[in-house]
Amino acid sequence: TILANQIAAGEVVERPASVVKELVENAIDADSTEIDVTIENSGLKLIKVVDDGNGIDKSQVQTAFLRHATSKISEQRDLFRVRTLGFRGEALPSISSVADVTMKTSTGSVGTEVTYKGGKLVSQQASESRKGTTVAVSSLFYNTPARLKYLSSPNTELSKISDIVNRLALSHPEVAFSLISNGRELLRTSGRGDLLQVLGSIYGVKTIAKMQPIKGDDLDIKIGGYVSLPELTRSSRNYISLILNGRFIRNFPLTKAVINGYGSKLMIGRFPIAVITINADPALIDVNVHPTKQEVRISDEPKIGSLISTAIQQMLSDKNL
Ligand code: ADP
Ligand code: MG
Repeated sequence: TILANQIAAGEVVERPASVVKELVENAIDADSTEIDVTIENSGLKLIKVVDDGNGIDKSQVQTAFLRHATSKISEQRDLFRVRTLGFRGEALPSISSVADVTMKTSTGSVGTEVTYKGGKLVSQQASESRKGTTVAVSSLFYNTPARLKYLSSPNTELSKISDIVNRLALSHPEVAFSLISNGRELLRTSGRGDLLQVLGSIYGVKTIAKMQPIKGDDLDIKIGGYVSLPELTRSSRNYISLILNGRFIRNFPLTKAVINGYGSKLMIGRFPIAVITINADPALIDVNVHPTKQEVRISDEPKIGSLISTAIQQMLSDKNL
């Protein structure tokens, strides 16, 4: 099964940023209020995620590293109302099959520390009782040289990590995040639940004054978030973030709907900064489309798209733009 885990790792852990994403999602699912990410050498030397969440009971720690072991859904119909970020039970076994992993975890009483090397448990012992979980991943891809060779430059890999943490922070303003790379702080959010503040920490405080809230709703769909005034644009679509039920998603038609909301008010080749939150009945969404869970199927996509475009038009006309 180490082989099966390495095969799954090919899909789930493409690069250091995927490890960061999976570990931080686990921390969010554990109801953490503070998540600190430390990176060394673009994640190849070290990726460490410290959370203050619920932790894992001693009796469940080894189970968490088994394939398809998830504590998050227990029956098939749960798949159609997924509220957690994880549900496939693939991340920990996949990551531990291509790296060295140490996890310290505690539910508040005696903690547990386990170490896995190349997918095999090499030690388990009692550890401190501070509630929460620390996962440290080192020597990533040491046993899959092809994967190592396929990675981009250290700077590109680091920017992908930073991008993922930024988007997770935008998706969860109620969680205090920090990202430190080779001793340098790249992100810090307050965890006070203010999306605009998180936007400011990522894109710079000066952008805050040029962001406007938007709102829209229909029976079972709510649209919110912030978009930039037409005077504040970027040369790439990457500054448009879509957050569906707390999950950052990639979706071209909805990204297009954001741009369309501006009509002719954007210059050719320019794109807004936007963080659009979409809250919809989980029954309308199929998240089990791809292992990385960034692509989802939404049954009412055109309706959501027009709600977004209309909300932006409304904001612009309120501002006489
Ligand atoms: P999934 O997230 O899809 O359930 P993972 O392989 O990512 O699968 O994690 C397996 C299990 O380990 C989770 O279901 C959860 O019970 C537990 N777990 C992993 N990370 C944490 C964490 N940081 N805090 C608490 N529990 C965790
Ligand atoms: Mg997970």
